[in-house]
Amino acid sequence: MERTNHELLDLVTRRGGGSSTDAWLYLPGEPGSTGVDDLGGLFVDLVISVAEATQELVMESRRFFGAAFPECPEHPNTPLWPKIRGADAVWACIDGGSTAIPIGKLDGRVK
Ligand SMILES: [Zn+2]
Repeated sequence: MERTNHELLDLVTRRGGGSSTDAWLYLPGEPGSTGVDDLGGLFVDLVISVAEATQELVMESRRFFGAAFPECPEHPNTPLWPKIRGADAVWACIDGGSTAIPIGKLDGRVK
């Protein structure tokens, strides 16, 4: 059965339990985890932090190791990066392209 992107990114968060890390993200079926700090900041900063942690978790996972996630539609095998553009958190091309997709709105537009 083919899995959807939504299923692949069914991340689990847990409170940090007294450490300086506010939450940990886990990818189901993978041994690693990635911490997210400073959850008390601006919402846009929180979105960027979670997106960065998610990207790191996926690209360093056994299942997707070496994959560009999310892949830039303008530059194959190159990832988009979480950036603040104006007041919004977006997945942005940093290689000269114009792609800027609001984080949370990939909706299958990119792999
Ligand atoms: Zn690009």
